[in-house]
Amino acid sequence: MAVRELTALCEEIADCPNCALARTRTQTVPGTGPAPADVMCIGEAPGAREDATGEPFVGPAGRLLDELLASAGLSREQVYIANIVKCRPPGNRDPQPEEVAACRGYLERQIALVDPKVIVTLGRFSMAAWFPGESIGRIHGRARRVEGRLVMPMYHPAAALHRGDLRPVLVADFQKLPALLASPDAEAPFAEAAEAAGPAPARAEAAEAAEAAAPPPQAPLL
Ligand code: SF4
Repeated sequence: MAVRELTALCEEIADCPNCALARTRTQTVPGTGPAPADVMCIGEAPGAREDATGEPFVGPAGRLLDELLASAGLSREQVYIANIVKCRPPGNRDPQPEEVAACRGYLERQIALVDPKVIVTLGRFSMAAWFPGESIGRIHGRARRVEGRLVMPMYHPAAALHRGDLRPVLVADFQKLPALLASPDAEAPFAEAAEAAGPAPARAEAAEAAEAAAPPPQAPLL
């Protein structure tokens, strides 16, 4: 039932004219995966490869995502994967607030149909959809319940392709998923995370700089 509704939603998205990205896309990249699914990964926006194939997270960032999922005992086939916006921003620029807002309804309908136990946000833009104003360096790897669902912010895999020191951080964060899925009430407030990890301002600034220094997710992987 959910699969049929997701298929219908993808067909609806394919013709969407609701923001400026409709004029420059090759095709929409709505998302892939089963429904329901325990885990839903949500990135930022399609890049050139995704625009060409219609599939999210292909290329090096997608391969790293597959490895990260495997480190958590998951395969891509078990996870629903989507982006905040379904069309490629030209030149791989950041999606604009009005584009994110225009696409938000599709994402909310996808989440309702996939009904994940855990939403994994990948990168700062995806994180900001749930935690505006937060720093990914401060809150990555800690799940918090938002409107009844656990949301776990993580770095974008593309950032780890350009900053090797982020790779073990991503692996460690993904490896928390099995325990979270087994005990979904085991969320840890961000404040606890900050205290446990050390002096917050310096750590957050350094990690934030690392994400910001990385080129736009999926963009440079041409
Ligand atoms: S990004 Fe979303 S709202 Fe904008 S045209 Fe594509 S599907 Fe429609």
